[in-house]
Amino acid sequence: MNKFEYMEKYGYEQLVYLYDRNSGLRGFICIHNTTLGPALGGTRIWEYENEEDAALDCLRLARGMTKKAACAGLNLGGGKAVLIGNSKNLRKDTVKREAFWRAYGRYVETLGGRYITAEDVGTTPFDMTLVRQETDSVLGLPETSGDPSPFTAHGVIKGIKACVKEELGSSKLEGVKVAISGVGHVGASLAEMLAAEGAKLWISDIDQDALAEVSAKTGAIIVEPNAIYDLDVDVFAPCALGAILNDNTIPRLKAKIVAGSANNQLEDSNKHGVMLHERGIVYAPDYVINAGGLINVYQERIGYNRDSSIHAIDAIYDRIREIIRESKDTNVPTYLVADRMAERRIEMMRNINSIYVGK
Ligand code: NAD
Repeated sequence: MNKFEYMEKYGYEQLVYLYDRNSGLRGFICIHNTTLGPALGGTRIWEYENEEDAALDCLRLARGMTKKAACAGLNLGGGKAVLIGNSKNLRKDTVKREAFWRAYGRYVETLGGRYITAEDVGTTPFDMTLVRQETDSVLGLPETSGDPSPFTAHGVIKGIKACVKEELGSSKLEGVKVAISGVGHVGASLAEMLAAEGAKLWISDIDQDALAEVSAKTGAIIVEPNAIYDLDVDVFAPCALGAILNDNTIPRLKAKIVAGSANNQLEDSNKHGVMLHERGIVYAPDYVINAGGLINVYQERIGYNRDSSIHAIDAIYDRIREIIRESKDTNVPTYLVADRMAERRIEMMRNINSIYVGK
């Protein structure tokens, strides 16, 4: 991948390499667009096969954050950090862990507030307290908004209800069949919420302990990761990693609805977004349905209040319904309706920034 060509194609601002020999820190911070405000996006730590995969993931995730904030009506830009490593191993050495996250915090600080970080896959609120020792540009701390995952799950269930309402005629989840791929932080919370509302669940994961725990709590049926696509269910909820909707999986889906938390679910947005649309499958755009965690963390910037946060996340229900309706009215795939919604807000706000206010 030629990074400059990629950055030019999708309008990126900045890609920063991070390296600290002492703590083993290696990774990237990417700032996609700061028209609406500072770039906010979590820090992902993952064992990437190589540097190129990590850089591409960082670029893709940062762009998703721009759209996510824009669609959710937040005054934030899009950014992301991707670190190469194994978070479980890092946690075993407390001194190295502290050095790693403080070194990272110092690099975040050098960006002068252009990038604000928080948790993502592989990171915990405690890691963020270590980052906080070096920079104010970090949210999702235990004493304020904490782990975003239950809030993300809350938004996802609202989004599922919106899809179910549009497709099945009622937003009640009693008896609705849902297959969840990935029962980590978000997937496990979502499973519990769905079970509490009477949905019938199937789950898959590569982590057997996580599967056993969620199944015991919710009565969900465990299936092999590769068998989840073929199930005769109403809703397929991708809650693991990205690119899960692709040439191999889309033709196998029997679900009428795809609605889950994973970022970048479409392997190729244009190709696979159209493929779902042509198959008559309603796709809840990932960055719209999974914005609950971001909305919650954003509240820290304006004075954290849990009730206001939940209220703001509830709006995902109406937003998803609006997108599905516009898609049906115009015969435009949902992913494109959402992209246009994001682009419109960014363009509108870019233009108001051109008004001179005399200060
Ligand atoms: P997590 O790491 O806690 O959970 C991911 C789960 O997916 C793990 O249990 C993992 O074992 C499982 N998994 C990995 N590969 C799999 C496979 N091939 N098949 C089935 N399961 C597999 O992460 P999380 O915080 O729950 O986030 C899940 C997804 O939602 C990610 O894509 C993340 O970017 C996205 N997301 C999370 C949040 C949040 O608040 N945590 C917010 C927005 C988006």
